[in-house]
Amino acid sequence: MLGLMQSQPLLISNIIEHAARHHPDTEIVSRAIEGGIHRYTYLDAGKRARKLANALGKSGVALGDRIATLAWNGYRHFELYYGISGIGAVMHTVNPRLFPEQIAWIANHAEDKVLFFDLTFLPLVEAIAPLLTTCKTFVLMTDRAHMPELSKAETKVPNLQCYEEMIAPEPDAFVWPEFDENTASSLCYTSGTTGNPKGALYSHRSTVIHALASALPDTLNCSARDCILPVVPMFHVNSWGLAYSCPLVGAKMVFPGAQLDGKSVHDLFEAEKVTMSAGVPTVWLGLLTHMKQHNLRFSTLKSTVIGGSSCPPAMIKSFQDEYGVKVLHAWGMTEMSPLGTVCNLKTKHLGLSKEEQFAIEVTQGRAVFGVDMKIVDDTGKELPWDGKAFGNLMVKGPWVVREYFKGEGGDPLIEGWFPTGDVATISADGYMQITDRSKDVIKSGGEWISSIDLENIAVAHPAVQQAAVIGVLHPKWDERPLLIVVKRPGMDLTREELLKFFEGKIAKWWLPDDVAFTDAIPLGATGKMLKTKLREQFKGYKLPTA
Ligand code: AMP
Repeated sequence: MLGLMQSQPLLISNIIEHAARHHPDTEIVSRAIEGGIHRYTYLDAGKRARKLANALGKSGVALGDRIATLAWNGYRHFELYYGISGIGAVMHTVNPRLFPEQIAWIANHAEDKVLFFDLTFLPLVEAIAPLLTTCKTFVLMTDRAHMPELSKAETKVPNLQCYEEMIAPEPDAFVWPEFDENTASSLCYTSGTTGNPKGALYSHRSTVIHALASALPDTLNCSARDCILPVVPMFHVNSWGLAYSCPLVGAKMVFPGAQLDGKSVHDLFEAEKVTMSAGVPTVWLGLLTHMKQHNLRFSTLKSTVIGGSSCPPAMIKSFQDEYGVKVLHAWGMTEMSPLGTVCNLKTKHLGLSKEEQFAIEVTQGRAVFGVDMKIVDDTGKELPWDGKAFGNLMVKGPWVVREYFKGEGGDPLIEGWFPTGDVATISADGYMQITDRSKDVIKSGGEWISSIDLENIAVAHPAVQQAAVIGVLHPKWDERPLLIVVKRPGMDLTREELLKFFEGKIAKWWLPDDVAFTDAIPLGATGKMLKTKLREQFKGYKLPTA
């Protein structure tokens, strides 16, 4: 027997219409690429998304067409999210921090038809335009006054149009089409640390239910009383879904544009009374350094989501104890839309000591409803949830990838489960803790050493700004850990002092065999430490114990 409820497809256009109708005066504030602050409301965003939908239809964009963006977090990018997906085309957010050849490869693989881009990226687009095989229209996301002299620009970027001119003549009324909720809505390529990048193709259904689940109190806890500033880019898994969950609940949004340095972000937090933010640890490192240098406080910020890489316990402590800001340590992947787990305590933990609570808070947290997870050994046997056994983390759920775009890489699933490539433990209460990326685990004498655990200890040292641990070949033990460190400016630290700091915190055989001081740790396009680069850089490194 079927239920008798209305069967309305879950469509992304419903989100913007809901926000425009029920939160018409709630603001969206952007640091504009042209300079200054731009403000408008969900009512305005809804109107402009509809104008854009009309313009796209007129220019021949049809259901399933891929439309690319190279843009920062800002109001026009937000309109594209809804205008493109709303008409059944696919919003393809491209990471501008990739190499130009990689961007061209991705755009050609996706067969993007139109490319929308911010002024910042004009030189980049000029460089890649000749390499693009399917993209025939380029739209600069600005107004006429900021358009480059067309006769010059068009020699490099053919068919260059102006965003504001494109939407200006269009009516702000539009009836969003209704289609199957499983229709593709947006596309995001993985960073491709092995082989070519692969596309995760989200659907309207997966996006809407992910947005609903993200907003829950024990997930990211978003509401109409919040002012949310996603530092995490809209080109990195849809700002971790915040581009959808914020309008879904009617939260005020603040977009930081291209200025992601500590001062610019802190200024916006204060000026716009931001209550919640989200970003990778490297961004918060910059912010906290700026705050400490200038003795600043947060007057409205209550919580921040930290994910993308393991958040060092020292950073969680600093936010919580020094600034009174709750850290929501979250884990996910491009292939998971991205949310998998978020760390929040349960009632039974509230009576625990601060230290005991902290031991839970440093984990990546519990699975969000919609994500099922397990850890398995190399033979595929499930391992116990005891907080000790660590194995390959597998997930499944309605917003987890089933297959990559165009079947790239074959069938990624193992008996219906997606292997994340992460190694983790899960406690009896279901708190998952990542010990490593499987490729980064250090295999010493047949046992595994967690590089993340060692890095977390190193960055707790006051003179350490950043730390990475990699395995280096060893004649006796196969691999041994090498600790690579960037010192805090103006601080002194010796190898011996740092190694002494590990005493009593880990088993003796985990102690790094050496410390290498360096000026910078290479970061990838999504702000993660590039261990592949470090392994290349330190290839053949002579350990004192070897
Ligand atoms: P991406 O698809 O680029 O977002 O990268 C996903 C990968 O980032 C995951 O598979 C993890 O290896 C890593 N990651 C994401 N969040 C965390 C976290 N909170 N702690 C540790 N690693 C994380």
